[in-house]
Amino acid sequence: MTDAYLIDEIYKERILENQRILDKRVNDTYDKYPLLKELDDKISSKIIADTLKKIGASAASSDGASLEELKAKRLSYLKEIGIDDNYLTSYYHCDKCRDTGYLENGTLCTCFIKLKAELMIKRSPIRDRIGKDTFSNFTFDYYSDKANDNGISPKDAAKAAYDEAVSFVKGYPSNENMLITGPTGVGKTYLTTAIVSELIKDAHMVCYLPAADLFEIMGDHTFNRPSSGDISYKDIVNSKVLIIDDLGTELNSGFVDSTLFSLINNRLNQGLSTIISTNLGINQIGENYSSRIASRIFENYRVIKLFGNDIRLVKRNF
Ligand SMILES: [Zn+2]
Repeated sequence: MTDAYLIDEIYKERILENQRILDKRVNDTYDKYPLLKELDDKISSKIIADTLKKIGASAASSDGASLEELKAKRLSYLKEIGIDDNYLTSYYHCDKCRDTGYLENGTLCTCFIKLKAELMIKRSPIRDRIGKDTFSNFTFDYYSDKANDNGISPKDAAKAAYDEAVSFVKGYPSNENMLITGPTGVGKTYLTTAIVSELIKDAHMVCYLPAADLFEIMGDHTFNRPSSGDISYKDIVNSKVLIIDDLGTELNSGFVDSTLFSLINNRLNQGLSTIISTNLGINQIGENYSSRIASRIFENYRVIKLFGNDIRLVKRNF
């Protein structure tokens, strides 16, 4: 099922849900204030009678209060019981677009963008960690405070990385980029997941992909192969923030190198943010990829280094 189809279904369901909510509101209010139901019934009957009369279907002359009088009576009664008419007549999940997904000027509403971003993240490998691996749940307890030769401890590095990630989110929208390096199990995915958790809350279009999947999708597009994945080439290139997880785990080739360069370069030119996490050290990036890639990254990305023992192993002995 495509995103467009799913989103369409979600909006249809929202509109039905809105009606159910309104029906319940009206019925509950009628139970509490029977006079309101009486007035509403009178108004409906009056509208029908007036219409029939107008088309000559009924000769009976309507007597009693006019439609305007009944409506005025209803409004003053609503005022008396302290209920706003809107409460009974309109309910939307999103007041900005009235659950259409589009604003009056034709642009996409943030609720639409948020849905799309959430759907995309739901299919990513970090879906179960969203909302759990958050900045507020982050703990430095598992990082050693034993300094290395440079006088920096894994805990110092983790704190610096944490601050950088928080500042990325706080400063977003921006054209900032990040390279998060470090061995397996030092919290790289945790930090990127925490970033995603925050960004999608604010309806920013984030695309998260393991490097191997990313290059497969890019390859499908380049070589006109039918794409198997749920995330499309367009999702990748149009995402406001692209997170490439575990760069260096893909099979290296000339295609990967040229694709990575144009992806990084185009995103820099368009001011779109990219976050790369990798087990590769700084030197290895220069060795594994062409120098034009390494130089674009080092020139334009904040480099964050994590190190220390694999937290999963530390936790086991904690
Ligand atoms: Zn909306």
